[in-house]
Amino acid sequence: MANHEEQFKKLIAHTKEYGFIFPSSEIYDGLAAVYDYAPCGIELKKNIREYWWKSMVQMRENIVGVDSGIFMHPTIWKASGHVDAFNDPLIDNRDSKKRYRADVLIEEYIAKIEDKINKEVEKAAKRFGDAFNREQFVTTNPRVLEYGNKIKKISARMAHDLTVNDLTDLKKLIEELEIADPVSGTRNWTDIRQFNLMFATQIGSVSDEANTVYLRPETAQGIFVNFLNVQKTSRMKIPFGIAQTGKAFRNEIVARQFIFRMREFEQMEMQFFVAPGTELQWFEYWKEQRMKWHLSLGIPAEKYRFHDHEKLAHYANAATDIEYEFLFGFKELEGIHSRTDFDLSRHQEFSGKKIQYFDIERNESYVPYVVETSIGLDRMCLAVMSYAYNEETLPDGSERTVMKIPPVLAPYKVAVLPLVKKDGMPEKAREILSTLQKCYMCQYDEKDTIGRRYRRQDAIGTPFCVTVDTQTLQDNTVTVRLRDDMTQVRIAIAELNAFVAERLQ
Ligand code: ATP
Repeated sequence: MANHEEQFKKLIAHTKEYGFIFPSSEIYDGLAAVYDYAPCGIELKKNIREYWWKSMVQMRENIVGVDSGIFMHPTIWKASGHVDAFNDPLIDNRDSKKRYRADVLIEEYIAKIEDKINKEVEKAAKRFGDAFNREQFVTTNPRVLEYGNKIKKISARMAHDLTVNDLTDLKKLIEELEIADPVSGTRNWTDIRQFNLMFATQIGSVSDEANTVYLRPETAQGIFVNFLNVQKTSRMKIPFGIAQTGKAFRNEIVARQFIFRMREFEQMEMQFFVAPGTELQWFEYWKEQRMKWHLSLGIPAEKYRFHDHEKLAHYANAATDIEYEFLFGFKELEGIHSRTDFDLSRHQEFSGKKIQYFDIERNESYVPYVVETSIGLDRMCLAVMSYAYNEETLPDGSERTVMKIPPVLAPYKVAVLPLVKKDGMPEKAREILSTLQKCYMCQYDEKDTIGRRYRRQDAIGTPFCVTVDTQTLQDNTVTVRLRDDMTQVRIAIAELNAFVAERLQ
C-alpha cells in the first residue's frame, strides 16, 4: 500500500507539473476539495465526455440529451428526498479533532479483511502452483470462509442501521470492531450525527427561507422534471432515455483523495424510462452496456468489478456500482440503479401535475419506471490518469514517464516536430501542423533535442509524434513515432491524416 501511496503522490505531482489538474485558488493556498482543470486536463475531460455522449446519445436512436439549470425550483429537492435525507453519518474523533463518515470507517475496516483474504489466496497459489484452484480454495478454506462471514455480518448490520437510521447501533458497531482513528490511533469517538450535503443559497434580493435554492447535488432531477417536455417534443416512445452532463455540488465532509471526492464535480447521467415490470431486464442490460463502455477503452478488465448494493435506497429495487481499482483500492466509479417509479411519482405528487405516459401497445397510462446510469466525470479522469501513468526504464538504461492514455482520449493527438530549427524544416512542419489542426488537437515544438521533445509528449500522453527531417524536404515523407512502444515508421505526408484517424478508431 505504501508503494501505492507513493505512486499516487507522484501521479498528483505529475498532473500538476504537466498541466492536467491544478489545486483551486492556489495563490490563496487553495480551497479544499475543489480543483481546476489545466490545458491538458480539460482536453482529457472533454474527450471522455464526448466519448460517453457518443456512445450514450449519438449512437442510439432512443436517447436524447438535455442541459437543465443548476438552480431549480426548491420543491424539487423536497420531492426527491434530498432535503430530508441526503445525509452522511458523521463521527468525530475527540483526540485528533478529525471528522469521518461512519460508513466509510466501516467500509475501510471491511477492505482490510478483504486484503487478508487476498493474502491467503496469494499464499495458497504460491504453495499449490499450477494445481491451484482459486474457486475451490475460497469456497472451502476455513480461514477464508470465516473472513467472508465476518464481512457479510458487518455489511448487513451497517446496511440495516443506515436504512432505519439507527445511529446508536452504528456507533456500537464501530466500537465493537475496535476501529481506531488513523490519525490519533485512539477510539475516543463522539456520537454519530446526520449531516445534509446540499449547498443552499438565496435567490433574488430578499433573503428569507422562501428564497432558498440549492446547488444541485446531482443532474438527474433536471431530467425527471423535463420528462414530459422531452417525451412530447422529441416524440419518444418508451423505452427511451434522457442524458445530461454537468456540474453537481455536494458539501462532502471528508474530501480527500484528490479529484475522487470533490465538492464541485461533474456527472454524466442517463435516465432510461421503461414500462413497469420490465425494469430489472433493463437494469441487467445497462449493467452490461456500461461495463462494455469501460472495457472498450482498452483498460484491463481486472481493474473493474461490480459491487452490488446490500443496502438499497428505499426507492430502488436493484443497484450496483462499477468499481475501479484506484491507487487507494477498489472504489465506486459509476452507479447503476433501478429507481422504480419513485422520482416521477414524487414529482407528480409535489407539483400536482400528471406525469404519465400512454402506452399504445399496452393500451394504458402509467408512471414510467427508471433505470439510471450515473458516472462521475472527474472520477473517470482519475481512473484514466491512474491507469495511464507509467514510469519505464528503457533498454539504454534511461527513464521515461509516459501517460499511456487511450489514444481516443489523449489531450493532444499529434505533435509536429522539426528535427532542427533551420533549413526550412520549421516551415514544412508548420504546413503539416495547419492541415492536421483542422481535425485534431496538435502541438508544435521546436525547442531542445528531439529526444527531450519526445519525452515531453510522452509525459502528456500524445500518441503520435511527427518528425520533419532533411528527407522530408526531398520526398515529402515524415517519421511517425509511436508513444507506447516508441517504434517509428516513415510515411508520406499525404497519408498522415488517414494514419492517425485509423488508429483513433
Ligand atoms: P460515494 O458513495 O462515493 O459518495 P455516491 O454513491 O454518493 O458516491 P452517486 O450519488 O451515485 O454517488 O453519484 C454518481 C456518481 O457521481 C458516482 O459514481 C461518482 O462517480 C460521482 N460522484 C459522486 N460524488 C462525487 C464527488 N464528491 N466527487 C466526484 N465525483 C462524485
